[in-house]
Amino acid sequence: MACALRGHDLGARVVILEKSPVYGGATAMSGGVVWVPDNPQMKNRGISDSREEGLEYLRGITEGRVRDERLVAYVDNAKRVLAYFEGHSHVRLDSLDQYTDYYPERPGGKPGGRSMEPVPFDASCLGEQFERLRSPHPQSQVLGRFGISAREAHTYLVNDLRSKLLLFWRLVQYGLRWPKRRGFSRDTRLYAGNALMGRLRRSLMDRDVPIWLEVGAEELVVEDGRVTGVLTDDGRRIRAERGVLLGAGGFESNAQMRGQHQPRILTEWTASSPFSMGMGIQLGRAAGGVVDLMDEAWWTPTTRIPKGRVAWVLVVEKNLPGGLFVDGEGRRFTNEAAPYLDVVKGMLANGGVPVCWMIFDAEFRRLYPVGPVAPGYAQPDSRVSRRLLEGFLTRAPSLPELAEKLELPADTFQATIERFNAMAARGVDEDFGRGESLADRYYGDPRVQPNPCLRPLTRAPFYAIPVYPGDLGTKGGLVTDPSARVLNAEGSPIPGLYAAGNTSSAVMGPSYPGAGGTIGPALTFGFIAAETACPQ
Ligand SMILES: Cc1cc2nc3c(=O)[nH]c(=O)nc-3n(C[C@H](O)[C@H](O)[C@H](O)COP(=O)(O)OP(=O)(O)OC[C@H]3O[C@@H](n4cnc5c(N)ncnc54)[C@H](O)[C@@H]3O)c2cc1C
Repeated sequence: MACALRGHDLGARVVILEKSPVYGGATAMSGGVVWVPDNPQMKNRGISDSREEGLEYLRGITEGRVRDERLVAYVDNAKRVLAYFEGHSHVRLDSLDQYTDYYPERPGGKPGGRSMEPVPFDASCLGEQFERLRSPHPQSQVLGRFGISAREAHTYLVNDLRSKLLLFWRLVQYGLRWPKRRGFSRDTRLYAGNALMGRLRRSLMDRDVPIWLEVGAEELVVEDGRVTGVLTDDGRRIRAERGVLLGAGGFESNAQMRGQHQPRILTEWTASSPFSMGMGIQLGRAAGGVVDLMDEAWWTPTTRIPKGRVAWVLVVEKNLPGGLFVDGEGRRFTNEAAPYLDVVKGMLANGGVPVCWMIFDAEFRRLYPVGPVAPGYAQPDSRVSRRLLEGFLTRAPSLPELAEKLELPADTFQATIERFNAMAARGVDEDFGRGESLADRYYGDPRVQPNPCLRPLTRAPFYAIPVYPGDLGTKGGLVTDPSARVLNAEGSPIPGLYAAGNTSSAVMGPSYPGAGGTIGPALTFGFIAAETACPQ
């Protein structure tokens, strides 16, 4: 959609093909956060940044896996794309001054400000196109009814009077929106990825750029080595004089491709869209494009509830004090509060079956949400459905009984908890350094000191939920150059063919710079592709 917008403004006739009955893709399901180094809002919030620091940071965390020109293209263009959107579209982003980079202590890392979230959006101006926008991920909805911003979600963790009043006010506002909501099937005030895609859609509607729903790209037309069009799954042939951008997402929902490139990972562990079937990558390969990073993903621990449509992301829970992860042997194996990508890398490096358990005590259960279960003060166990109590939340009156229910070796499990509790009481995780980084503490509980990510598990009953090596999408795909052109085996661009988002091999390499590290590049390289295809 970013490519379509810029392409239109440069004089091209553009059409977006969308295979599913709704547009927005995984982006609409997401937090919608966009990572923009050296963005102008940082200065207004008192955070210094520069092109050089952004580059230094990316060069460090990508470990030499990404060509420098692409990193430079990203750092130089992300803020330019942001400025263009602000000047020429409805897209508006708000810098999150406390949302730290995922490695803030690395050279060039920042304690906040580079991650930006979409400003909430009134979707009633989309008319019937609102009903065609993919719904948000269920975990982003309060009481299953309305969204909240990332900034606000962070304040709810503290659960003080201010956050309670804010939540109450949001409920009142939701009620007051009833007249507006009446004509639609869901709340009209959009947040996060839905706000981003709603804003982009409105901007495209202003330009009369169409999205053809339920029309999938099935084959690329190649003439004399140049991509000149697309054959669609409903039998149309579309001629593309300037080019074709493949932006069809990753392959996280394609079991066959997963089996080939990530054999230990199941498609049911992803939190992403069922339409991420790797079709864009396949089309690009058939036209001669090469791929990279196919064994990588935007990893995150996830959990699943019985009969749930999609996996739930465990980004917040894993950092909060009073809980820990253990493997099938009852042992801790990683820093649970590390960036979510690294937690799954820890799960995969641990050998054996990558599935593990999150263990927590009654105090944790009382204070914090766990997947779809609200904190105990709002939803005590007596109000948790049988479906969740029987198939998701394991509960036991003592640690040995919990070990028995989970079929963990009781002695090892007991020793793990005792060691964890002793370290937590001192606030120092000697084994994995949990809570040492500023990034770990972002989702900690600031009321718990000296380490907001550590508290001993003492209060019965004790609980467990399953944890899977899930993802927010895959990151391997077509290799592209700084102009978003797809490259062939000789390293030359395939004329007329571009790729962006998870269809392309990630500019972030095997790493994840901060929240927004996937959508930022998708927008930026989509935009650049349009400028390459339509030179001014
Ligand atoms: C719960 C959750 C939260 C997340 N939060 C964030 C966040 O805050 N920030 C961030 O940066 N990332 C986040 N992510 C990751 C991010 O959402 C994805 O990496 C990103 O949206 C991928 O964008 P994309 O453009 O590659 O694909 P998509 O947004 O999925 O778009 C691809 C589109 O192509 C369509 N399509 C597929 N095949 C075809 C075909 N053959 N023909 C036509 N159309 C086709 C799909 O239906 C889809 O609509 C999150 C992910 C999840 C699941």
